[in-house]
Amino acid sequence: MNRTFILRYIIPLLFCFGWYAASSQDNSIRYRGCVTGDVMEKYFQKHPQEKIAFEKRQQDFQKKYELVRKQRQGLQAQQRVNATVTIPVIVHILMEDPSQVTDDQVQSQLDVLNADYAGLNADSVNIPAAFKSRFGKSELRFCLAQRTPQGAPATGIERITSVTKSLPGENDPVKYSAMGGVDAWDVNKYLNIWVCEMDDENDLGYTFMPGLGIAAGERGFVTAYHAFGTIGSARAPFNKGRTATHEIGHFFNLSHIWGANSCNVESCSDSDNVDDTPNQYVCFFGTPEYPKTDNCTAAAPGVMFMNYMDYVDDAAMCLFTIGQTDRMASAMNSFAELTPLLSSNGCVPPLLYSNDVEVQRIASPDNIILNCATSFTPQLHIKNIGSATLTSVNINTVVDGQAPSVKTVTLSLPSLQTTTISGDAVAVSAGHHSIKIYTTLPNGSADQFVANDTATSIFSVTGNAGTPLSEGFESTAMPPQDWGIGNTSDIKEYNPVRVTGVSHSGNASVKFDNYHYQLFGKNAILNSPELAIPIAADSVKVTFWRAAAKASLASNDSLVVEYSTDCGQTFVAAYKKGGNDLKTKADNTSADYVPAASEWVADTLDLSPYIAGKFDKVMVRFRIINGYGNNVYLDDIRIYSVTLPPALKQKGYILTPNPTTGSLVLQHYNASTPLKAIAVFSSIGQMVWKAEYENAGTSNYISINLRNVSRGIYFVKLVYSDKTIVEKILKID
Ligand SMILES: [Zn+2]
Repeated sequence: MNRTFILRYIIPLLFCFGWYAASSQDNSIRYRGCVTGDVMEKYFQKHPQEKIAFEKRQQDFQKKYELVRKQRQGLQAQQRVNATVTIPVIVHILMEDPSQVTDDQVQSQLDVLNADYAGLNADSVNIPAAFKSRFGKSELRFCLAQRTPQGAPATGIERITSVTKSLPGENDPVKYSAMGGVDAWDVNKYLNIWVCEMDDENDLGYTFMPGLGIAAGERGFVTAYHAFGTIGSARAPFNKGRTATHEIGHFFNLSHIWGANSCNVESCSDSDNVDDTPNQYVCFFGTPEYPKTDNCTAAAPGVMFMNYMDYVDDAAMCLFTIGQTDRMASAMNSFAELTPLLSSNGCVPPLLYSNDVEVQRIASPDNIILNCATSFTPQLHIKNIGSATLTSVNINTVVDGQAPSVKTVTLSLPSLQTTTISGDAVAVSAGHHSIKIYTTLPNGSADQFVANDTATSIFSVTGNAGTPLSEGFESTAMPPQDWGIGNTSDIKEYNPVRVTGVSHSGNASVKFDNYHYQLFGKNAILNSPELAIPIAADSVKVTFWRAAAKASLASNDSLVVEYSTDCGQTFVAAYKKGGNDLKTKADNTSADYVPAASEWVADTLDLSPYIAGKFDKVMVRFRIINGYGNNVYLDDIRIYSVTLPPALKQKGYILTPNPTTGSLVLQHYNASTPLKAIAVFSSIGQMVWKAEYENAGTSNYISINLRNVSRGIYFVKLVYSDKTIVEKILKID
């Protein structure tokens, strides 16, 4: 997936395709911001060959269309030449609070589309007399999809909670679940409409015209939630549903009425290739007063600014021409990406079986980390898509392919309603597990459609380990033994992964893929086992190596390291780095980041103040927060504690080991008292080793080399500024 949208995110628009700034007084959007011209132009800049192919397809189309127009001559005005076709529409509402766009608001938009395309719009009375004979009544109608691509009953509306905004153009994140959006339904059967927030709130929406080489899943209409329908979140002056009327006109191969150029390019030489729309110089905004003439159409009745394909306000537009409706019908019959819609069964509700349960997804455990768990309670979202009320169903839970745990659930679920059912607790051990849950025997009889009865997922159960714990991700198991992985999005592939050939040491490391998964605000998580630490530990530390790059100035991934003393029930952050503080590669890169050896940086996190001497268990969690950035890697994680000998703490120093083979260490607990000298004497008073110290702070560790003295008893004399201490030691071979 390329990163053009990131560029779009940070680089201001260098050229303007017909929208103008919002009024500063009331913060409302005053001028129509159709982005179709913009996205087409950007697409052609990136794929120059596609522009040639597109123009060729349009020329071929134009010939067919002109034939249709010839056949039209001699027919009565507005006489239908095609049968009515109804296009199934799926409306994906993708917002932080998708309930802002109600079912009624969606229906208000469908009503406008059906009225406008049929020429049944009440405001058609406003069509000037001179244009009435050109008033087009299309055969296109729209329904909310009545069945899913899989054949289950549907409402044609789905709501997704997400902060992802539309970045108009190719790879628009709202069209990809991996970027926090939602994937299109089968574009050959449905017109996909994404209702969302636009990155630039002056933008009202866009589509791609047919004849482009775009990915199939990008076909459809993206619209601002405030320019959709006539009620609810719709805002004047774009609250009459005409953004959809206009943009779906582009979807069916209509150009802007003034031609192919941008709105503000003054030209009579470009055309919309429709013979009954007057040639027009530039676009019109707002609510112009009829008639208007311009450089291209100087004579009365002038230009047709009240056409749906101009830029006037919703209330000021009221018609397609017959030439335009013929053009849309021809496009439906000509373009390979539109023709399949003619035979879609998406408007037809499926026949219901009497006993049919649809498993929608596993509610729990769904790609989560269960800490210190010995069992879990499976939960399943189901929909009764049978015609009979569902009174009982078996829930079957399979972990790692083992024999199912079965529970009969009794309930009372009417047809086409959803609910969550729970199985009995299932025992589970530490590790990373696959889970499959399926339903059987709805109402005690065989399910009549079994293809929709099963859901699968994965989950981790963390285990226990001692300290020190060192993890370099060299073993092929991911997560490593007793560790846990998960993430807070619906995309399982966003979990941290083990990668080889990329490492601080050894051959492998763990990668958090923020490059392919643009899941803003979502977290990818790596949990350590719960580690036993001595309650008497003097220090608890976490060390690790990280490598990270920024994708752009605007991208801002973060790493949070947290600890838990209650086995992952609650976590406390002890480390957070983001953006420039996190990155280890100097330059931003829009490529899929792989660190060079020099780009690994060590981090040490001292948990001693929170843990040492207080808790005998700790769990550490590494959490990456997605900020539209790039990959983050971790390697060589070490979690350890240090417990000092009690004698060291009591006396302030110790000499170890005793007996010694010759390599003796003097260790101080508190190095505040200056050490003047060390001298070692044999049992007969002969000095065998000595060192003097001047004005130097006492070192914590001082080596005393007795390797070359014979075995026997020795006396070590420690001379401090305020005292002298003598310790007896035994030298052995
Ligand atoms: Zn437009």
